[in-house]
Amino acid sequence: MITPPEPARLQGPLLAWFAANARDLPWRHTRDPYAILVAEMMLQQTQVERVRPKYLAFLSAFPTFEVLATAPTAAVIRSWSGLGYNRRAVNLQRIARVVQAKHGGVLPREVAALRQLPGIGPYTAGAVACFAFEQDVAFMDTNIRRVLRRACVGPDEQTPPPTERALLTVGTALVPPGQGWAWNQALMELGALVCTAANPTCWRCPLQVVCRAQQAWRAADATALTPMVVPVRPVRHVAERRSEPYQGSRRWLRGRLVELLRALPPAAVLALTDLGPLVKPTFQPEDLPWLRELVVALAHDGLVWLDGDTVRLP
Ligand code: SF4
Repeated sequence: MITPPEPARLQGPLLAWFAANARDLPWRHTRDPYAILVAEMMLQQTQVERVRPKYLAFLSAFPTFEVLATAPTAAVIRSWSGLGYNRRAVNLQRIARVVQAKHGGVLPREVAALRQLPGIGPYTAGAVACFAFEQDVAFMDTNIRRVLRRACVGPDEQTPPPTERALLTVGTALVPPGQGWAWNQALMELGALVCTAANPTCWRCPLQVVCRAQQAWRAADATALTPMVVPVRPVRHVAERRSEPYQGSRRWLRGRLVELLRALPPAAVLALTDLGPLVKPTFQPEDLPWLRELVVALAHDGLVWLDGDTVRLP
């Protein structure tokens, strides 16, 4: 069981820090459920600065559930270019179609109902309930999980690690009544800007006095004069971390294939035999079954349309 610091000793300092340091992000200016859903789907696996321009462009092209639901899927996939994980575009349109067909064009408010929508997991359901409907709910993403774990449990290396359920229980107890929106935004912001994975800058953290990880690091170095004793890990850029294992991986090939189809004029098709060398320069006729299997999987995910030996965006 986790015994967190006194909630007020976390809540007050973190909320005050957020009020003074929050980035000006477009999705923080709205409570429109559709816009919040779009932002949360994009932010799931893509960095804020890449999402920002895409979010505004997407809302301009597809401003409502109704417009998105009735748009050609190919147009939605095209608009997702540069964000990666293209399945999110298809899922977003599927959600829009379910909202139109089953919910009268109105996104459900409750976490349980949101979880019933295609492609919505516990994080997105909680984030939408909180950021669109201002519900005082807790949910976990990478940043929130890291901040709560360090502040309430201890250093990342400490074993055994807390279970997700235990962290969620602590997170739920910490949500200040009536301030769930600001609290969850603040946790995410602290994880993004200060309590980062590699080199947390504890010296500028509003939680440093009560943070369990910080206390452990200081205790481990009793000679420390300042509360800056944190493990410093080498930071590698995302491209560097991905380079070898990612290039040529199945996910990379899927993304490349969709990117090639995006570049075609609307409704244009490509034969599998023409597509192969574009996806993989060393493509040989014997690679055709492999390529077909890749395309079939993409078609199953709703990302491409396979018709005999030709393929296009759906
Ligand atoms: S004091 Fe350091 S480890 Fe603790 S929450 Fe702040 S940045 Fe993270």
